[in-house]
Amino acid sequence: MDNLKEQDNTTSESIDNKDTEKAPEVYFEDLDLSDNVLDALYDMRFEKCTPVQAQCIPPILEHHDVLGVAQTGTGKTAAYLLPLLTLLERDPHPADAVNCLVIAPTRELARQIDQALQGFAYYTGVNAVAVYGGNDGIRYEQERRSLQAGADIVLATPGRLITHLQLGTLDLSRTTHLVLDEADRMLDMGFAEDILSIVKQMPEQRQTILFSATMPPKIAELARTVMHNPVEVEIAVSKPAENIKQSLYICHESDKAIILKKIFKEQPPQRVILFCSSKQKVKELAIVLKRSGLNARAMHSDLRDEVMNLFRAHKVDLLVATDIVARGIDIDDITMVINYDAPHDAEDYVHRIGRTARAGREGSAITLIGEKDLYALSNIERTLKIKIPRAELPEGVRPPQTEPQHGRGGRSGGNGNSRGRNGGSREQRNSHGKRGGNDAQSKGRNEHRRNDKRQAQSSKPHGKSDNRPAAQKRPPKNGIGRKPE
Ligand code: AMP
Repeated sequence: MDNLKEQDNTTSESIDNKDTEKAPEVYFEDLDLSDNVLDALYDMRFEKCTPVQAQCIPPILEHHDVLGVAQTGTGKTAAYLLPLLTLLERDPHPADAVNCLVIAPTRELARQIDQALQGFAYYTGVNAVAVYGGNDGIRYEQERRSLQAGADIVLATPGRLITHLQLGTLDLSRTTHLVLDEADRMLDMGFAEDILSIVKQMPEQRQTILFSATMPPKIAELARTVMHNPVEVEIAVSKPAENIKQSLYICHESDKAIILKKIFKEQPPQRVILFCSSKQKVKELAIVLKRSGLNARAMHSDLRDEVMNLFRAHKVDLLVATDIVARGIDIDDITMVINYDAPHDAEDYVHRIGRTARAGREGSAITLIGEKDLYALSNIERTLKIKIPRAELPEGVRPPQTEPQHGRGGRSGGNGNSRGRNGGSREQRNSHGKRGGNDAQSKGRNEHRRNDKRQAQSSKPHGKSDNRPAAQKRPPKNGIGRKPE
């Protein structure tokens, strides 16, 4: 599970599932997922389920509604996409209807889900249309045409979805699966009414899956309104260790360097890690810090071990890195963590600051929040149920005018990405909306099909996402390379 965020100096507090961490490991191949989905997981080196996957996949496969409380980073996207793809392959579905609708609050999240979907659905005949791109007329027209051509799955942001519904370009009257991802965020952004009006256009008899990072009363109420006897799954919320002294500065992006100077003037850096959001920023900041006389080094992926060893040997005082490069750092005497850019979510925040105050030591974590980080901050504080103490800005530095605002920021959407994966058009499918026949038959032909699929990959217009390794043959069950028995 290399991709998953590691936990170090954190405490886990499960709301419901106190035993989540001790739960037995579940392998994907032990679940009743379709062969095509398992093939994609094999290519992607996904082997073991995360807790949210282990708990959500079986009830979704049994057509239950599922109410999941889980944050980004827990593997929740696969927790609903994998069983839904399996159901879309396995259950009879009309070939000319939108069978599944996935709604996400922002374009960024929709894009991430879309990328995951490209990977997981690669070998299936399931096709999808994403409507979350820019707001111009050309894009809208592309979306309209893609929707008209039909799709098993529509992935959308709420605002754009409403536009298509109002203009009659989208018909949800036969949509039998609905996913509301990051529902708490959608409500925060003012989409409650939109969601209810979207749901009203769908059949009463449907499967609804709702994921939320938190469970405030308004989400419980939404769940009561749109779901039927959902199976409830709650995943442990990581908490920062208590001996980390946390603080933050809310400032203009352009003042971050001044604040950093003030921090290092008060406490010259020693055993400090500074996190930036991008490789480029890491490089630039390390140069600036070195020029100001500090013993700083950037940690790049190609020089990772070398720089790490210098830091470990106390030859570097200040390590500048992205959290991806800094993953797996096992140093116990880090005194301070600075988030030069806000972490993306609570899981990242806890993970980053957990690099300090380890092995019973004290440590501090300082986060710089620029204008663009305000939403991430409110998300982190709400999820962790904490208020991080605000530090006083240096003299002459003015704060930005606003604290986080929740507007209807996700209204633009739609890029009209239409994909017929596996080279499949909907007309080619049988009356059950499937390309291949039943699962037993499909298993028998799998070997042959995988070879075909591999050959077809190079010519596919929307082939594998870039981050996927080359396809390999999934070994037979219980064969070499499979999970240990
Ligand atoms: P999510 O919470 O859905 O945003 O997923 C977080 C990250 O974990 C993504 O980069 C996924 O690709 C990765 N991931 C999800 N499930 C697994 C798994 N079972 N094994 C390995 N990586 C996973």
